[in-house]
Amino acid sequence: MPSLVQQLSAHRQFTALRTVVQCKAKATALREGPAVSDGPGAAWVAFLCPAHSKGLPEWPAAQTHAAQDSMPCGTVLDFRPAEQLLRSHADLWLTTLTGVRPETYGGVWSDVLDQADRVLRERLEPGVDADEDGPLPGFLTMLWLARRSAAEDDLMQAVTALGYCETISKDLLPRPDADLAPQ
Ligand SMILES: [Zn+2]
Repeated sequence: MPSLVQQLSAHRQFTALRTVVQCKAKATALREGPAVSDGPGAAWVAFLCPAHSKGLPEWPAAQTHAAQDSMPCGTVLDFRPAEQLLRSHADLWLTTLTGVRPETYGGVWSDVLDQADRVLRERLEPGVDADEDGPLPGFLTMLWLARRSAAEDDLMQAVTALGYCETISKDLLPRPDADLAPQ
């Protein structure tokens, strides 16, 4: 009998492996994302612990199952194509972090990522309050890889690099009480 993940994947390859929560707990729930429009299977599946299984509004699930595998909480297997994955990264953290909106650049992802890089580098300028020992330099290295791949029209490779950026972004996103958001 195929496992639940095998059923939900409908024998597709996943296109991205993401870590959307930093949590050391084991997942107990498997959240099944909405069905894809052009075939069988879910758009994504997310593994979450009890504390996180109810509190991720940005990952609206079609159904929740008991997790059969002992995956770390926050693991997401994503089955969407590159354009949708890039859009998801923008919606979930890139625009929040940088203020850069894909529609401003006509959905040209190399331009979107270049502008995001510009915004973040300004935070590393002398006199700007940025922690150079913090996660931002490593983030910018991965963003550079994503920019280069996007410029070469290799959007899947850009998605892979952005997956690392997404994980690191948890340490960069402004806290509710901090005014770090760019204008
Ligand atoms: Zn958790």
